[in-house]
Amino acid sequence: MCKTHYNPIHCIIPPYMLTRLMESGNKKIADLAIKSNFRSFRFRNDRIFFQKASQYEKDILGLIAKQTGKEIMQMEVYDCRQKTDLIGATLLWDSKNNQKITSVAGKNVIKGGKASWDFYWQLFGRNSIDNKGLLIRQYVHFDKGMDNAYWDGRRMIYGDGDGLVFTSFTSDIDVIGHELTHGVTENEANLDYENQAGALNESFSDIFGIMIKQRYNNQDVKKSNWLIGEKVMIGPKYALRSMKAPGTAYINHPELGTDPQPATMDKYQNLPNTQSGDFGGVHINSGIPNFAFYVAAFNMGGYAWEKAGRIWYAVLTDVNLAQNAKFADVKNLTIAHAGRIFGINSPEVIAVRQGWLEAKV
Ligand SMILES: [Zn+2]
Repeated sequence: MCKTHYNPIHCIIPPYMLTRLMESGNKKIADLAIKSNFRSFRFRNDRIFFQKASQYEKDILGLIAKQTGKEIMQMEVYDCRQKTDLIGATLLWDSKNNQKITSVAGKNVIKGGKASWDFYWQLFGRNSIDNKGLLIRQYVHFDKGMDNAYWDGRRMIYGDGDGLVFTSFTSDIDVIGHELTHGVTENEANLDYENQAGALNESFSDIFGIMIKQRYNNQDVKKSNWLIGEKVMIGPKYALRSMKAPGTAYINHPELGTDPQPATMDKYQNLPNTQSGDFGGVHINSGIPNFAFYVAAFNMGGYAWEKAGRIWYAVLTDVNLAQNAKFADVKNLTIAHAGRIFGINSPEVIAVRQGWLEAKV
């Protein structure tokens, strides 16, 4: 286990975006970004605490994630009513009772949670995030105007957005799928959340997040626009990330500037392993493996999850994928698994090789 003193929580909004917003000339945006940043510290500390606590301590504190072992989706959705108290949140919906609800955010997370659970179960026989039937707990309307969504190691927490740059973080299925996939990664390769391994961690979340959305919307590789977070970011020209053309998800945004993601290895950004350096650019350099996946999936044609998704899932769950893996390791593993599944001289192997070639890895 290589655990450094950095132990970031998994959130959809990278530190460099919040930093830009904290410096905004618009006082409302700046104030809310400062609050969102503060919440990130809280969830990071919680996460460190949960990871360090012994099973006994977790038991005493009631912190053990409930594992049902049953092969049906089990989910609970809670409404925080714009407060920051998770324990005091109201149960809005649970899969046992399937209550009728009117909350849009609630409906969104039920839809995204179901789409994610179905994706992993129906395609890969994976029983929830941990493959042991983990009860999925989702918390909506956390705090007033919070600009982020988190997977804190045992549950999902969504803010409503500031209403100017971001709207509700429940708006996109790919964002929900992205966050839940962080849980899957944590239970499998447990990739370090720093440098290349961290960028791979982010990339696996984007890759499965986009496929969960594509499958829900019945989109093949040509029909999909390959954008992550196109609804949560306000304005028709903006999204959080583009897998098809990293670096173009938002251009000259009045508050956020231009998407800093590279698509190719020669543009890899060597950033410091600090909060302000996005822990070595985990949300920045993820553009490179994202682009490799896009090219591979596009060249295979059809639905991304049928071929490319199978290969990338085999890699994510391969015990040979090291916690501190680099891009080249994932390149080699995807080629090996494509060969094993589809044959060493198959078009799928050629497509995977082409993907990494175009990403210059
Ligand atoms: Zn993430």
